[in-house]
Amino acid sequence: MLKKEVQELINKGEMLPLMEEFYTIQGEGAHTGTAAYFIRIGGCDVGCHWCDVKESWNADLHPPTKTDLIVENTAKYAKTVVITGGEPLMWSLDYITNQLQEKGIKTHIETSGAYNFSGVWDWFCLSPKKGKLPLDRNYKEADELKMIIHNKDDFKFAEEQAEKVGEKCSLFLQPEWSKKEKMTPLIVDYVMENPKWKISLQTHKYLNIP
Ligand code: SF4
Repeated sequence: MLKKEVQELINKGEMLPLMEEFYTIQGEGAHTGTAAYFIRIGGCDVGCHWCDVKESWNADLHPPTKTDLIVENTAKYAKTVVITGGEPLMWSLDYITNQLQEKGIKTHIETSGAYNFSGVWDWFCLSPKKGKLPLDRNYKEADELKMIIHNKDDFKFAEEQAEKVGEKCSLFLQPEWSKKEKMTPLIVDYVMENPKWKISLQTHKYLNIP
């Protein structure tokens, strides 16, 4: 296929730079413990220094893949899909989410919210990052706010972000993996003092699953 044709299909969301897809257990946040098919789309310029998927950043390294094929693969395994990245909202997600929902698959996203909203979502997990803050619309869409705690200043940032989401949004504090020994006890104390928050742990890493 010509480069121009590929680009046109990407613009329409009919192709996406797929980094990996796999069936596993959601390890984090409100749906922890639930089986889900993960679709990881390449591309991110948010630049978190502690990012654990830096290999996702350069979208050019991930092959443009027909969205219909990704949907077909998902339908073989799961009733719930989690679209993640990278930063998935760099791409138009209307086509893929419509196709998935037509097949009765629940659509979840994990996003920093730094790019324009697209897609139809059963669950919108917003995880704001200091390097590139969410756009206004994305705060409104959030069902779940997941704040990564890497140092003590991140509690203040988490509170600032919590003020921007709706009342029904669930609030989670999650220790950044490389700092979990230091930060988890602080998060425990913080949640007991501020019970509007819950703790999210990266349980898939403890379980040694993807
Ligand atoms: S937004 Fe996510 S994928 Fe992008 S740099 Fe930050 S942690 Fe990594």
